Amino acid sequence: MASVLWLQGGACSGNTMSFLNAEEPSVVDLIVDFGMDLLWHPSLGLELGTNAQKIFWDCARGEQPLDIFVFEGTVMEGPNGSGRFDMFADRPMKDWVNDLAAQAGVVVAIGDCACWGGIPATEPNPTGSTGLQFQKRTKGGFLGSNFRSKMGLPVINIPGCPAHPDWITQIIVALASGRAGDISLDELHRPQTFFKSFTQTGCTRVQFFEYKQSTMTFGEGTRTGCLFYEFGCRGPMTHSPCNRILWNRQSSKTRAGMPCTGCTEPEFPFFDLAPGTVFKTQKVSGIVPKEVPEGNDHLTYMAHAMAARVASPQWAKEDMFVV
Ligand code: SF4
Ligand code: SF4
Repeated sequence: MASVLWLQGGACSGNTMSFLNAEEPSVVDLIVDFGMDLLWHPSLGLELGTNAQKIFWDCARGEQPLDIFVFEGTVMEGPNGSGRFDMFADRPMKDWVNDLAAQAGVVVAIGDCACWGGIPATEPNPTGSTGLQFQKRTKGGFLGSNFRSKMGLPVINIPGCPAHPDWITQIIVALASGRAGDISLDELHRPQTFFKSFTQTGCTRVQFFEYKQSTMTFGEGTRTGCLFYEFGCRGPMTHSPCNRILWNRQSSKTRAGMPCTGCTEPEFPFFDLAPGTVFKTQKVSGIVPKEVPEGNDHLTYMAHAMAARVASPQWAKEDMFVV
Protein backbone atom coordinates (compact mmCIF):
# COMPACT_ATOMS: atom_id res chain seq x y z
CA MET A 1 0.00 0.00 0.00
CA ALA A 2 1.33 3.44 -0.91
CA SER A 3 -0.06 6.35 1.06
CA VAL A 4 -0.95 9.42 -0.99
CA LEU A 5 -1.86 12.89 0.24
CA TRP A 6 -3.06 15.45 -2.31
CA LEU A 7 -3.31 19.13 -1.40
CA GLN A 8 -4.24 22.14 -3.47
CA GLY A 9 -2.74 25.64 -3.41
CA GLY A 10 -3.44 28.50 -5.84
CA ALA A 11 -5.36 26.57 -8.44
CA CYS A 12 -8.60 26.27 -10.40
CA SER A 13 -9.07 22.53 -9.59
CA GLY A 14 -8.53 21.70 -13.26
CA ASN A 15 -6.02 18.99 -12.43
CA THR A 16 -8.37 17.45 -9.89
CA MET A 17 -11.06 17.39 -12.60
CA SER A 18 -8.56 15.74 -14.91
CA PHE A 19 -7.57 13.18 -12.25
CA LEU A 20 -11.22 12.27 -11.63
CA ASN A 21 -11.68 11.67 -15.37
CA ALA A 22 -8.76 9.27 -15.70
CA GLU A 23 -9.50 6.02 -17.49
CA GLU A 24 -6.26 4.10 -17.86
CA PRO A 25 -6.07 3.56 -14.96
CA SER A 26 -9.02 5.28 -13.28
CA VAL A 27 -9.00 6.61 -9.71
CA VAL A 28 -10.99 3.54 -8.63
CA ASP A 29 -8.39 1.28 -10.27
CA LEU A 30 -5.68 3.09 -8.34
CA ILE A 31 -7.38 2.29 -5.05
CA VAL A 32 -8.74 -1.20 -5.80
CA ASP A 33 -6.04 -2.67 -8.02
CA PHE A 34 -2.87 -0.68 -7.41
CA GLY A 35 -2.96 -0.37 -3.64
CA MET A 36 -3.19 3.41 -3.38
CA ASP A 37 -4.13 4.48 0.13
CA LEU A 38 -5.56 7.95 -0.48
CA LEU A 39 -5.15 9.61 2.91
CA TRP A 40 -6.92 12.77 1.82
CA HIS A 41 -7.80 14.76 -1.30
CA PRO A 42 -9.72 18.09 -1.48
CA SER A 43 -12.58 16.50 -3.44
CA LEU A 44 -12.39 12.89 -2.25
CA GLY A 45 -11.23 13.12 1.36
CA LEU A 46 -13.76 11.69 3.82
CA GLU A 47 -12.51 13.58 6.85
CA LEU A 48 -13.39 17.17 7.65
CA GLY A 49 -12.31 19.82 10.14
CA THR A 50 -10.11 18.66 13.00
CA ASN A 51 -10.20 15.05 11.76
CA ALA A 52 -8.69 16.12 8.44
CA GLN A 53 -6.24 18.36 10.25
CA LYS A 54 -5.07 15.39 12.32
CA ILE A 55 -4.16 13.54 9.10
CA PHE A 56 -2.06 16.50 7.94
CA TRP A 57 -0.31 16.86 11.28
CA ASP A 58 0.34 13.10 11.55
CA CYS A 59 2.02 13.23 8.13
CA ALA A 60 3.86 16.46 8.85
CA ARG A 61 5.30 15.06 12.10
CA GLY A 62 6.25 11.75 10.52
CA GLU A 63 3.75 9.81 12.64
CA GLN A 64 1.88 8.67 9.52
CA PRO A 65 4.19 7.48 6.73
CA LEU A 66 3.67 9.55 3.59
CA ASP A 67 4.83 7.81 0.43
CA ILE A 68 3.57 10.26 -2.18
CA PHE A 69 2.78 13.93 -1.62
CA VAL A 70 0.88 15.39 -4.56
CA PHE A 71 0.49 19.14 -4.88
CA GLU A 72 -1.77 20.97 -7.32
CA GLY A 73 -1.61 24.77 -7.70
CA THR A 74 0.94 27.38 -6.77
CA VAL A 75 2.52 27.96 -3.42
CA MET A 76 1.44 31.49 -2.49
CA GLU A 77 4.10 33.31 -0.51
CA GLY A 78 2.34 36.69 -0.39
CA PRO A 79 1.69 39.06 1.17
CA ASN A 80 5.25 39.94 2.17
CA GLY A 81 6.37 36.35 2.51
CA SER A 82 3.70 35.50 5.10
CA GLY A 83 1.74 33.06 2.89
CA ARG A 84 -1.48 34.40 4.36
CA PHE A 85 -3.08 34.77 0.94
CA ASP A 86 -3.65 31.00 1.12
CA MET A 87 -4.63 29.79 4.59
CA PHE A 88 -5.48 26.11 5.00
CA ALA A 89 -6.31 24.18 8.17
CA ASP A 90 -5.27 27.12 10.38
CA ARG A 91 -1.88 27.67 8.77
CA PRO A 92 -0.47 29.20 5.61
CA MET A 93 -0.52 26.47 2.97
CA LYS A 94 3.16 27.12 2.34
CA ASP A 95 3.97 25.85 5.85
CA TRP A 96 2.07 22.62 5.18
CA VAL A 97 3.94 22.20 1.89
CA ASN A 98 7.25 22.74 3.61
CA ASP A 99 6.59 20.19 6.36
CA LEU A 100 4.92 17.57 4.16
CA ALA A 101 7.54 17.71 1.40
CA ALA A 102 10.20 17.07 4.07
CA GLN A 103 8.43 13.88 5.15
CA ALA A 104 7.35 12.51 1.76
CA GLY A 105 8.98 9.60 -0.02
CA VAL A 106 8.37 11.42 -3.28
CA VAL A 107 6.79 14.78 -4.17
CA VAL A 108 4.75 15.21 -7.34
CA ALA A 109 3.68 18.57 -8.81
CA ILE A 110 0.56 18.29 -10.94
CA GLY A 111 -0.22 20.98 -13.52
CA ASP A 112 1.64 24.12 -14.57
CA CYS A 113 0.86 26.06 -11.39
CA ALA A 114 2.52 23.50 -9.12
CA CYS A 115 5.35 22.85 -11.57
CA TRP A 116 6.40 26.44 -12.33
CA GLY A 117 3.77 28.87 -11.19
CA GLY A 118 1.58 28.85 -14.30
CA ILE A 119 -0.86 31.70 -14.81
CA PRO A 120 -0.85 32.98 -11.17
CA ALA A 121 2.95 33.48 -11.22
CA THR A 122 2.84 35.61 -14.36
CA GLU A 123 4.07 39.16 -13.79
CA PRO A 124 3.14 41.13 -11.75
CA ASN A 125 2.37 37.99 -9.70
CA PRO A 126 0.25 39.73 -7.04
CA THR A 127 -0.04 36.65 -4.79
CA GLY A 128 3.69 35.89 -4.72
CA SER A 129 2.99 32.54 -6.40
CA THR A 130 5.67 30.05 -7.27
CA GLY A 131 5.98 26.44 -8.36
CA LEU A 132 7.35 23.76 -6.06
CA GLN A 133 10.83 23.58 -7.58
CA PHE A 134 10.74 26.04 -10.50
CA GLN A 135 9.75 29.66 -10.99
CA LYS A 136 8.82 29.56 -14.67
CA ARG A 137 11.96 28.05 -16.31
CA THR A 138 14.30 29.00 -13.45
CA LYS A 139 15.15 26.25 -10.99
CA GLY A 140 14.45 27.07 -7.37
CA GLY A 141 10.79 27.68 -6.70
CA PHE A 142 9.41 27.28 -3.19
CA LEU A 143 11.40 24.20 -2.13
CA GLY A 144 14.68 25.31 -3.69
CA SER A 145 16.79 23.75 -6.41
CA ASN A 146 18.57 21.37 -3.99
CA PHE A 147 15.40 19.85 -2.59
CA ARG A 148 15.27 16.06 -2.59
CA SER A 149 12.50 13.95 -1.11
CA LYS A 150 13.19 11.09 1.29
CA MET A 151 13.76 8.78 -1.70
CA GLY A 152 16.41 11.19 -2.96
CA LEU A 153 14.29 12.47 -5.85
CA PRO A 154 13.61 16.04 -6.97
CA VAL A 155 9.99 17.10 -7.41
CA ILE A 156 8.48 15.16 -10.31
CA ASN A 157 6.70 17.65 -12.57
CA ILE A 158 3.63 16.65 -14.55
CA PRO A 159 2.76 19.92 -16.32
CA GLY A 160 -0.22 20.88 -18.45
CA CYS A 161 -3.14 23.22 -18.07
CA PRO A 162 -4.48 20.81 -17.02
CA ALA A 163 -2.32 17.69 -17.18
CA HIS A 164 -3.88 14.82 -19.12
CA PRO A 165 -5.68 12.37 -16.77
CA ASP A 166 -3.56 9.39 -17.75
CA TRP A 167 -0.24 11.21 -17.31
CA ILE A 168 -1.25 11.72 -13.68
CA THR A 169 -2.52 8.24 -12.86
CA GLN A 170 0.20 6.38 -14.77
CA ILE A 171 2.92 8.20 -12.84
CA ILE A 172 1.12 7.56 -9.55
CA VAL A 173 0.88 3.85 -10.43
CA ALA A 174 4.60 3.72 -11.22
CA LEU A 175 5.40 5.38 -7.89
CA ALA A 176 2.91 3.33 -5.90
CA SER A 177 4.31 0.10 -7.31
CA GLY A 178 7.85 0.98 -6.32
CA ARG A 179 9.12 1.90 -9.78
CA ALA A 180 10.18 5.46 -9.01
CA GLY A 181 13.71 4.60 -10.14
CA ASP A 182 12.41 3.80 -13.64
CA ILE A 183 11.08 7.31 -14.19
CA SER A 184 13.74 9.29 -16.02
CA LEU A 185 13.24 13.03 -15.95
CA ASP A 186 14.22 15.79 -18.36
CA GLU A 187 15.94 19.02 -17.27
CA LEU A 188 12.55 20.42 -16.21
CA HIS A 189 11.87 17.29 -14.10
CA ARG A 190 9.18 16.04 -16.51
CA PRO A 191 8.94 12.24 -17.02
CA GLN A 192 10.58 11.57 -20.36
CA THR A 193 8.10 8.85 -21.21
CA PHE A 194 5.52 11.59 -21.74
CA PHE A 195 7.51 14.73 -22.45
CA LYS A 196 10.44 13.70 -24.62
CA SER A 197 8.59 14.01 -27.92
CA PHE A 198 6.89 17.05 -29.40
CA THR A 199 3.13 17.60 -29.40
CA GLN A 200 3.40 17.39 -33.16
CA THR A 201 4.30 13.68 -33.00
CA GLY A 202 1.17 11.88 -34.17
CA CYS A 203 -0.65 15.01 -35.35
CA THR A 204 -2.78 14.16 -38.35
CA ARG A 205 -1.73 17.44 -40.03
CA VAL A 206 1.97 16.71 -40.02
CA GLN A 207 2.19 15.97 -43.74
CA PHE A 208 0.90 19.50 -44.38
CA PHE A 209 3.49 20.84 -41.98
CA GLU A 210 6.18 19.13 -44.05
CA TYR A 211 4.87 20.63 -47.29
CA LYS A 212 4.33 24.07 -45.68
CA GLN A 213 0.63 24.15 -46.42
CA SER A 214 -1.61 26.05 -44.03
CA THR A 215 -5.20 25.43 -43.09
CA MET A 216 -7.59 28.29 -43.85
CA THR A 217 -9.59 28.33 -40.65
CA PHE A 218 -9.97 26.92 -37.16
CA GLY A 219 -11.88 23.75 -36.46
CA GLU A 220 -11.66 22.15 -39.86
CA GLY A 221 -11.47 18.35 -40.05
CA THR A 222 -8.33 16.45 -39.25
CA ARG A 223 -6.64 16.58 -42.65
CA THR A 224 -7.01 20.08 -43.91
CA GLY A 225 -3.68 21.82 -43.54
CA CYS A 226 -1.37 22.79 -40.75
CA LEU A 227 -2.01 25.35 -38.02
CA PHE A 228 1.64 26.44 -37.67
CA TYR A 229 1.93 28.97 -40.48
CA GLU A 230 -0.99 31.28 -39.75
CA PHE A 231 -2.62 30.23 -36.49
CA GLY A 232 0.28 30.12 -34.05
CA CYS A 233 0.34 26.37 -33.37
CA ARG A 234 3.15 25.56 -30.93
CA GLY A 235 3.14 21.81 -31.65
CA PRO A 236 6.71 21.80 -33.01
CA MET A 237 8.06 23.66 -29.95
CA THR A 238 6.08 21.97 -27.17
CA HIS A 239 6.85 18.72 -25.40
CA SER A 240 3.76 16.62 -24.74
CA PRO A 241 2.16 13.36 -25.95
CA CYS A 242 -1.20 14.97 -26.82
CA ASN A 243 -1.25 13.31 -30.24
CA ARG A 244 -0.03 9.94 -28.90
CA ILE A 245 -2.22 9.68 -25.80
CA LEU A 246 -5.42 11.24 -27.05
CA TRP A 247 -7.80 13.31 -24.94
CA ASN A 248 -11.01 11.46 -24.10
CA ARG A 249 -9.49 8.60 -26.12
CA GLN A 250 -10.78 10.52 -29.13
CA SER A 251 -8.80 13.48 -30.29
CA SER A 252 -6.43 16.34 -29.57
CA LYS A 253 -6.51 20.08 -30.00
CA THR A 254 -4.61 20.04 -33.27
CA ARG A 255 -6.61 17.13 -34.67
CA ALA A 256 -9.75 19.12 -33.95
CA GLY A 257 -8.39 22.26 -35.62
CA MET A 258 -7.28 24.18 -32.55
CA PRO A 259 -3.63 25.30 -32.35
CA CYS A 260 -1.51 23.93 -29.53
CA THR A 261 -0.89 26.79 -27.11
CA GLY A 262 2.16 25.16 -25.51
CA CYS A 263 0.62 24.46 -22.14
CA THR A 264 3.28 22.00 -20.97
CA GLU A 265 6.11 24.55 -21.20
CA PRO A 266 7.06 26.94 -18.36
CA GLU A 267 6.42 30.05 -20.49
CA PHE A 268 2.73 29.22 -20.95
CA PRO A 269 0.46 31.26 -21.27
CA PHE A 270 2.90 33.36 -23.35
CA PHE A 271 1.54 36.68 -22.16
CA ASP A 272 4.50 38.39 -23.85
CA LEU A 273 2.66 38.04 -27.16
CA ALA A 274 0.87 41.15 -28.35
CA PRO A 275 -2.83 41.22 -27.33
CA GLY A 276 -5.02 39.31 -29.75
CA THR A 277 -2.12 37.45 -31.34
CA VAL A 278 -2.10 34.18 -29.40
CA PHE A 279 -3.66 32.39 -32.35
CA LYS A 280 -1.69 34.29 -34.95
CA THR A 281 1.76 33.19 -36.04
CA GLN A 282 4.33 35.88 -35.21
CA LYS A 283 6.49 36.53 -38.28
CA VAL A 284 9.72 38.27 -39.20
CA SER A 285 9.21 40.68 -42.13
CA GLY A 286 5.70 39.29 -42.43
CA ILE A 287 7.02 36.06 -43.96
CA VAL A 288 9.13 33.75 -41.80
CA PRO A 289 7.69 32.49 -38.50
CA LYS A 290 9.51 34.25 -35.65
CA GLU A 291 9.86 30.95 -33.81
CA VAL A 292 10.94 28.09 -36.02
CA PRO A 293 10.70 24.45 -34.90
CA GLU A 294 13.22 23.51 -32.21
CA GLY A 295 16.57 22.45 -33.63
CA ASN A 296 16.28 24.73 -36.71
CA ASP A 297 17.79 28.12 -37.46
CA HIS A 298 15.95 30.63 -39.64
CA LEU A 299 18.23 30.20 -42.67
CA THR A 300 17.99 26.41 -42.76
CA TYR A 301 14.28 26.65 -42.12
CA MET A 302 13.80 29.08 -45.06
CA ALA A 303 15.77 26.84 -47.42
CA HIS A 304 13.82 23.78 -46.31
CA ALA A 305 10.51 25.64 -46.61
CA MET A 306 11.23 26.75 -50.18
CA ALA A 307 12.23 23.24 -51.27
CA ALA A 308 9.20 21.71 -49.56
CA ARG A 309 6.83 24.14 -51.23
CA VAL A 310 8.28 23.39 -54.65
CA ALA A 311 8.00 19.65 -54.02
CA SER A 312 4.50 19.91 -52.62
CA PRO A 313 2.06 17.54 -54.39
CA GLN A 314 -1.31 18.75 -55.63
CA TRP A 315 -3.32 16.94 -52.94
CA ALA A 316 -1.49 18.89 -50.24
CA LYS A 317 -2.43 22.23 -51.81
CA GLU A 318 -6.12 21.74 -52.42
CA ASP A 319 -8.33 24.22 -50.59
CA MET A 320 -5.50 25.60 -48.51
CA PHE A 321 -3.23 28.57 -48.14
CA VAL A 322 0.06 28.16 -49.87
CA VAL A 323 2.57 29.90 -47.57
S1 SF4 B 1 -1.16 21.51 -36.64
FE1 SF4 B 1 0.48 22.00 -35.15
S2 SF4 B 1 1.06 20.02 -34.28
FE2 SF4 B 1 -0.10 19.59 -36.16
S3 SF4 B 1 1.46 19.44 -37.78
FE3 SF4 B 1 0.80 21.58 -37.75
S4 SF4 B 1 2.26 22.62 -36.36
FE4 SF4 B 1 2.44 20.42 -36.01
S1 SF4 C 1 -2.14 20.31 -27.53
FE1 SF4 C 1 -0.69 21.78 -26.61
S2 SF4 C 1 -1.97 23.26 -25.48
FE2 SF4 C 1 -3.27 21.45 -25.93
S3 SF4 C 1 -3.09 20.15 -24.11
FE3 SF4 C 1 -1.49 19.46 -25.54
S4 SF4 C 1 0.37 20.62 -24.98
FE4 SF4 C 1 -1.38 21.64 -24.03
